[in-house]
Amino acid sequence: MQKFVIMGVQGCGKGTQAKLLCQAYDLTHISVGDIFRWNIAHHTKLAARIQRIISRGDLVSDEIVAEIVQRRLAEHDWNFGFILDGFPRSVVQAEFFLESYDIDAVIHLVVPDEVVRERVLSRRLCSGCGLDYNLIHHRPQVIDQCDVCGAPLTQRADDTPGAVADRLKTYHEKTAPILELFRRKELVLEVEGMQPAEAVQKEIQTQLGLKSSWR
Ligand SMILES: [Zn+2]
Repeated sequence: MQKFVIMGVQGCGKGTQAKLLCQAYDLTHISVGDIFRWNIAHHTKLAARIQRIISRGDLVSDEIVAEIVQRRLAEHDWNFGFILDGFPRSVVQAEFFLESYDIDAVIHLVVPDEVVRERVLSRRLCSGCGLDYNLIHHRPQVIDQCDVCGAPLTQRADDTPGAVADRLKTYHEKTAPILELFRRKELVLEVEGMQPAEAVQKEIQTQLGLKSSWR
């Protein structure tokens, strides 16, 4: 059984890499973001709780995230292992998590802030059908117009230069000490996230292979 954590800033391709690794190793992908979205789509009690917090103008606390992850892991549907995305959120959680679960590796996808900024600011969303576009890799045929339904393309409200800068700053402040802890435990694989998705995946698998041969 293999247990991994994947880390990296928003827009680094974490979700794609986690899914590819799950297919390759028969792992269960446990993504905090996906759990949130699923609950909101299914109008669960948890979703109501999250929405109450957000409507008060507060952020969902690290404790609630921890509770959600604990509950998800307790389902034990991950016979061949898991890859966890979006957790831990603090050093205390990371320490507790390492005591409870024997983690094989922490995959850290490294993408420079400049690139993240460029990727996020080039994102567009169809106001009609919700299709995602990207002015770098997936450009619409006609400027600012959806190829499928013809509706105008918009930017997400929080994809502004200021908001991206804030998210990057918060991300680095929060994750630096967590990564430091994982590094001290010699768990971290640094993977260059700028390459095409297949190349990133290949590098992850190569590094994981090298790591298991040390034992
Ligand atoms: Zn559309």
